[in-house]
Amino acid sequence: MSTTAAPVTASGSTPGDVVTAEVERLRATFAGGRTRPLAWRRTQIEGIARLLDEQEPRLAAAIEADLGRQAMATFMGDIAPVRAEARHTLKQLAKWVRPQRVRVPMAQLPGKAWTAPEPKGVVLVVGPWNFPVLLTLHPLVSALAAGNAVVVKPSELTPRTSAALAELLPRYVDPDAIAVVEGDASVSGALLAERFDHIFFTGSERVGKIVLRAAAEHLTPVTLELGGKSPVIVSRDANLDVAARRIAWANALNAGQACIAPDYLLVEDAIREPFMERLLREVERTGRDHPSRVINTGHAERLAALLDGHGGAVACGGRVDGAGKQVTPTVITDPDPGSDLMTEEIFGPILPVLSVPSVADAIAFVNDRPKPLALYVFTESQDVVDVVTGSTSSGSVGINHLLYQLLVPELPFGGVGTSGMGAYHGRHGFDTFSHRKAVLHKPTKPDPSMAYPPYGPIASRIMRRMMG
Ligand code: NAD
Repeated sequence: MSTTAAPVTASGSTPGDVVTAEVERLRATFAGGRTRPLAWRRTQIEGIARLLDEQEPRLAAAIEADLGRQAMATFMGDIAPVRAEARHTLKQLAKWVRPQRVRVPMAQLPGKAWTAPEPKGVVLVVGPWNFPVLLTLHPLVSALAAGNAVVVKPSELTPRTSAALAELLPRYVDPDAIAVVEGDASVSGALLAERFDHIFFTGSERVGKIVLRAAAEHLTPVTLELGGKSPVIVSRDANLDVAARRIAWANALNAGQACIAPDYLLVEDAIREPFMERLLREVERTGRDHPSRVINTGHAERLAALLDGHGGAVACGGRVDGAGKQVTPTVITDPDPGSDLMTEEIFGPILPVLSVPSVADAIAFVNDRPKPLALYVFTESQDVVDVVTGSTSSGSVGINHLLYQLLVPELPFGGVGTSGMGAYHGRHGFDTFSHRKAVLHKPTKPDPSMAYPPYGPIASRIMRRMMG
């Protein structure tokens, strides 16, 4: 199903009416039990894998039209990770759904106890624009693995990709249990007014708060995959060539519009000069190789504003063409830590670089700020790895590389503090969309009378000893 962004549709119904009808339709499917069997779940996930195999050119063309991103980058960023997740889930699912026995304490014997995952019900997945296939279909795989009915709401800022998903998904998965609802904030708002059994939101901190407030109304559990500023620490013992190449690559990928993109660098004074020489060479080279088109004029202008009044120096790049949505990969040295550039999530191909006397100072800088979604450190020293991982808090840590932590299916992907709550990927995604039900099964014999009041002195003594 697809609904427009207009407040009232041609038929005279509001987005709220359309959304309510859609959620009720899915709820009826879920209540009928269709989504629970393992075979149904597998068929849906196989459908998503087939959609990616057969429709990659169509999706890549839609993303190119929406984001100006080339097909190979779409394969790496949107297609391959979802396909890998689908394959991994298909392999592991039989194990994940199995009930797990737990030990029963002496006082509760005889009896058997276990936990069993069950689907939560009808869940909502709201996606952002920056990886519009990845960030809708990846959580969809987890939600289906757990046996839920799912409403998917792609971002309105990638309208062609949203339309392609709305058209293609019902051809590959069960349309009575999976619905794509298109539209802007007004449609999202109508969705959030509904009662869901879980809401999985990927997007900004600002909208994350709106989602959390709306979910409170129905006491709906929420996963928030948000953003923030992900720092990179470059230690004096780092492999400088590799660090510069990898950081420049990650900064250019999707024109820096990735939630776990490097946001700013903290470079030890001792290697600042040789590192900067390499970094500038790499950023200029990647800038020549990769077009750096950002999503729209508004975002280009937002980035242009960040390049104003930061108090640092433009070491390379710095050009923004708002109408053409182009931002040249840029390095800014020594910006004011209180400037917008250093306090707002950049989400574009701009890298501020600050010098620090030591790794300890870099850690103090990071710990003075909101907990990041990702933290990166380049070092050849295990001691530095230990001190950085042991004394900072972040959703994930990448050591000597960036972004690839996303592709390890059994690493949870999620934030901490203002970078988000909850996680997914692999088993963690299955758990996010499942309720783990606790079950105790007791035989009806024996049923000793001392377990019931009145408790005489002997019964009291025995009960006290048994129950600890
Ligand atoms: P956004 O918050 O503006 O939009 C995300 C979704 O929320 C869209 O579908 C949009 O339609 C909807 N929305 C917008 N306004 C709304 C409102 N008032 N009420 C209800 N819904 C509303 O985010 P974006 O600009 O699409 O994405 C960029 C942000 O997402 C960045 O902060 C980035 O770090 C974050 N992000 C996080 C991850 C992650 O996995 N943690 C991944 C990608 C992007």
